Amino acid sequence: MSLNYYNPKSNEGTSSNIEYLRIKEGTYKVRILPPKKDNGVWYVYDRKHFLKDNTGRINRFPCTRFSKGSCLLCTFKDFLLTYENKTPELEKLSQSLRTNVRVLLNVVDLTDNKIKILEIPHSVFKEIQKFVNAKEDWGEVLHPEEGRDFRIERKGSGMIDTEYSVMPSPKQTKIPIEITNDDLIDLEELVDGFNRKFSLSDIHQFLMDNYSDIYDDFVEYLKRVSPNLMAVDNTPSENDIPNNIDEIEEL
Ligand SMILES: [Zn+2]
Repeated sequence: MSLNYYNPKSNEGTSSNIEYLRIKEGTYKVRILPPKKDNGVWYVYDRKHFLKDNTGRINRFPCTRFSKGSCLLCTFKDFLLTYENKTPELEKLSQSLRTNVRVLLNVVDLTDNKIKILEIPHSVFKEIQKFVNAKEDWGEVLHPEEGRDFRIERKGSGMIDTEYSVMPSPKQTKIPIEITNDDLIDLEELVDGFNRKFSLSDIHQFLMDNYSDIYDDFVEYLKRVSPNLMAVDNTPSENDIPNNIDEIEEL
């Protein structure tokens, strides 16, 4: 069977030329770019689940809870939380299945003046958004001619001791390189393109292949709580998935 549908590299965007900037410990200087024309967004939310396969490799999957109103992996997590035969490993698995939320932005990395996709946690994005919204104090910080560079600093690397600070430059400056609209990545398409690679039956297949010992119990659970997420052979169209997870009828 071909397993490349969950190749972890497959989320590196629709084009392999896209470079990502992920904040590790240290100080970063970036210029956040304005929205791409015909599209209008300067940021996009990227929600994913990380899940190990039976070789121990971590695979990435989209969380469709917000885009489609339901998500098989969120439901798998809910199943594990209440599962009677839960082992310590399954407890750990249910913890690690929480949706990972990141925000993606087009930026110029000011260390090498290259356009990259900045990937940041939601808390860091909120800080940036405060400055973008505080137009009276900071002006148009995304403006190509009169905007501001940002300094993002990360201290620590663990779950608890990591701290971020975000600060715009006191000076208003021009973007240091020539940029056209074509240089900007379509952020929504970047996330949608990744999400489209996974059908419901792909994710079912992954669980069946890699979590075979509990898969049958999961299917029994699904029959009760979410019959529309059951389809393995007949992948439902998006219309078959209810918009509101609360409306899912119990059998
Ligand atoms: Zn989910």
